Amino acid sequence: MPNKLSEPISVVSSDLPIYNSAFECASREDIRSTQFKLIKEQIDLAYNNVAWYRERFAEKGLEPGDIKGHEDIKHLPITDKSVLRDTYPYGLFAAPLDKIVRLHSSSGTTGKPIVVGYTKEDIEEWRYCIMCILQMAGVVPGDRAQMAFGYGMFTGGFGLHYGLEGLGCMMIPAGSGNTERHIMMMEDYGTTVLIATPSYAMHICEVGEKLGYDWEKSQLRVGLFGGEPCHPKLKSEIESRMHIFCTDNYGLTEVMGPGVSGECLASRNQQHIMEDHFYWEVIDPKTGEVLPEGSVGELVLTPLNKKGVPILRYRTHDLTKVTTETCECGRTTARMDKVRSRTDDMLIIRGTNVYPSQVEDVLSSISGASPHYRLVLDNETGMDRLTLMLELEPQAFTDSVPQMEDFRNHISDKLRGVLQVSANVKLLEPGSIERFMGKAKHVEDNRIK
Ligand SMILES: [Zn+2]
Repeated sequence: MPNKLSEPISVVSSDLPIYNSAFECASREDIRSTQFKLIKEQIDLAYNNVAWYRERFAEKGLEPGDIKGHEDIKHLPITDKSVLRDTYPYGLFAAPLDKIVRLHSSSGTTGKPIVVGYTKEDIEEWRYCIMCILQMAGVVPGDRAQMAFGYGMFTGGFGLHYGLEGLGCMMIPAGSGNTERHIMMMEDYGTTVLIATPSYAMHICEVGEKLGYDWEKSQLRVGLFGGEPCHPKLKSEIESRMHIFCTDNYGLTEVMGPGVSGECLASRNQQHIMEDHFYWEVIDPKTGEVLPEGSVGELVLTPLNKKGVPILRYRTHDLTKVTTETCECGRTTARMDKVRSRTDDMLIIRGTNVYPSQVEDVLSSISGASPHYRLVLDNETGMDRLTLMLELEPQAFTDSVPQMEDFRNHISDKLRGVLQVSANVKLLEPGSIERFMGKAKHVEDNRIK
């Protein structure tokens, strides 16, 4: 097993193993032809077993045989969360229920959740995807992996759990909650890999520091993050304070769960898509038109090996761009830029579109601003009002009122320059913003509609 790093890494050694180099380093032509063969099988599976798909094909006057090449894929029906809701619970299932060995669901914040089912083969394929992304992240057999995700209907806990076990790691299924217990377990069991949301990893780091725990001496080496976008500044802060390296992976319940794409150690702002399991397109979110490679748009995914619930052309609402250039790690699989914004996250403030990720970019350029913030919106005065609650780094916090006032104005000017919207800025002392076990809550919208 690699040693713990005395310094956080910036570059990677090229001798890290690649789980399935036959595919992950294949030629682009071979990847494309494998994908086409698999997508044809998915089309047949969906058409022959799911009434909803047959109806959509009929509406378009389309038959499976009409898809003769990659250029025809854009004609397939498109799906989104609403389809899964409308067909709840089993309407999109292609396999008989006695072949489904597991259900997962998304957290239905309003109304019914969306539910997906996995056959034995689906679970195996999921495990394979996770093992590939684990090796991208530098996890090796023999690592001791401590899970800080909750188990349950959420895909994150179980999905990663079985992949880690499959790779030959010692799995420590601690689950979410009780930070001090997590730290004690890490120490006692010699944990080398922590699986958490980046916000919770930061919280564990801070609690450890308060308890006087020396992260440099701990055996922890790798942070595997997921569940929420991770700002590069937050990641590098965790890396330097805990003396570990961190990667994040991307996935969504509707198409499988975690393991759709993962960050390798050579290209740290992108993630390799598991192209033997997912066909990707990037579309214009307004027109639905497929955009050329390298354009920023909405990611659309078609899982390629599903047996339980085939999903054709799923609109993720996540904005990204994709490149197929060979990566320094040796992999030839496409890389997507890390998802920083979702079309759903967009806030409309006094008619202007604002993404929380833009605020994070501004904050990361300001020395003394911590990654802990919250945007609070209200319209008590009849007009939308935006307030940024921002925690300062300990060294930036001072009792000097004029200094704080200057700092506040500086942040406020920068924000107005980028967002084109003015914001009140409230500076808070370190530790003031509530920490969460799961995803951080960055937006509090109190506007009365
Ligand atoms: Zn790579």
